[in-house]
Amino acid sequence: MSELSERFETHDPGEPKVGEKLRCDACPVMCYIAEGRTGACDRYGNFGGRIVRCDPVTILEHRAESGGEVVSFAGEEWDGNPVNRARRFVTGIGAGTTYPDYKPAPFIVSQEVEGVDLVTVVTEGIFSYCGVKVKIDTDRHLGPETATVRAQGEPVGHVTTAEYGSQMLSLGGVRHLTGGSKPEGRITCDTLLALCNRQPVELTIDEGSTIVVQAGKPPVIDGAVEHRMRVGCGSATIGMFATQWKGLVDEVVVVDDHITGVVSEHQAGKVIDWPDTGIKILGRRSTPGRYFKVSEPGLGWGGTTISDPLEILGPWNEKKGARPGLSLLMVSTTGEQFAYYELDETLTPVEKPFPDRLRRSVELIEENCEPALCTVLFMGGAGGSLRAGVTENPVNLTRSVQRLQTYVTCGGAPAYVWPGGGITLMVDVTRLPENAFGYVPTPALVAPIEFTLRREHYEALGGYAEHVRSVDDVQRAGGEYFNERAVHGAMPDNPWPLLQQLRRERST
Ligand code: SF4
Repeated sequence: MSELSERFETHDPGEPKVGEKLRCDACPVMCYIAEGRTGACDRYGNFGGRIVRCDPVTILEHRAESGGEVVSFAGEEWDGNPVNRARRFVTGIGAGTTYPDYKPAPFIVSQEVEGVDLVTVVTEGIFSYCGVKVKIDTDRHLGPETATVRAQGEPVGHVTTAEYGSQMLSLGGVRHLTGGSKPEGRITCDTLLALCNRQPVELTIDEGSTIVVQAGKPPVIDGAVEHRMRVGCGSATIGMFATQWKGLVDEVVVVDDHITGVVSEHQAGKVIDWPDTGIKILGRRSTPGRYFKVSEPGLGWGGTTISDPLEILGPWNEKKGARPGLSLLMVSTTGEQFAYYELDETLTPVEKPFPDRLRRSVELIEENCEPALCTVLFMGGAGGSLRAGVTENPVNLTRSVQRLQTYVTCGGAPAYVWPGGGITLMVDVTRLPENAFGYVPTPALVAPIEFTLRREHYEALGGYAEHVRSVDDVQRAGGEYFNERAVHGAMPDNPWPLLQQLRRERST
């Protein structure tokens, strides 16, 4: 045995110690676990006198999609062999870990891909610094920016800046996990775990709404399922549909919390010679035909508090084109709310039955809206300890990731790594296999993480070359935690790590 191996061979199971309590060293809790029982997180147990990781190691088969459909890989035809020994990717799901990572990662796997020897270092990271960013596709006002978001009454995050057609939440983070009360930390951890494992979670926002959030599903806001994400702001909607309205109606107002649009004043109307109408909008005029703050944010038309859109209209000006009989369409940015009016003799809008000639244009707005979904991105920092399981000199891994020599995945899903120092990553939880995340009661989340790089690069950065194994060996013999191996189809949209880069390099 080499000096390196001797140094790290600390988990040699030796003879099973049946009947004795065993200590799990996979996290700082260091549970003593009785025979036949599991530890505090239920991920490890004492079975047959050994510490066993209770879930199987997940290996992804890149030939078969999850639904069983066979896809070609790397441009080759499948040879029909259901056991494909060249295309399996060992993920960190069920790999096990230790805290701190005082020894090489549980699996360091090599395989040749397109003629290049790649190494994948596989572990389950304990993320003390982690959280989720939640994007909720809705125009509705969920709560003021920076308002506290609660789960089961405990603060777990806050409302952050709104994005185009979406409201954003930032949940978790080290301050809620470990910087507050015990219940706050525990419920924050529960909330993050459920969201990362794609389960529904009810959240309440101070001075705002109660929402049910589930990755990949429509949000439920104050009991109502949100179906559509707006096509654009009111101004953008005017820009998209002005030509379709010309000749069918004298004026169109698209009501929106952000920018309410008025076609006769808007540049999109001007370029097609849309006549003035003498309309007056009660709001802050930004540029012609674009108005801010026609109302407060809310659950009404276009994310405002408005239930009667006439509230945002001032008196009509006869000198600028207003006349009895002038027709007016008012519509929200999702096309879900709409109404038709005509000015009477006193230039007051009077609602009339909605004319068939305008129905198609409103349907078109609805058709152009995308389905409203919740998106959950796990965000965490791979700390120095985790990196020590990859290389003897952890900063080398950071540099290698920053140089794009090392490709980072979580459960086989591509991760976005933030520029700058450290390895701070984000990953869409719907691209991981189900129930890929776990927790430890410190509290912190446990997430699979894999680092893939060329073998020569791995050796150059001080990797544990003597611990490199083949995928076959991993599948046959497993690892130090005696768990099963489970093979699943890889998600077809998740590329093989580094594949694009290898192909680019080969073609230049
Ligand atoms: S909480 Fe889980 S990982 Fe931590 S020591 Fe206990 S069993 Fe092991």
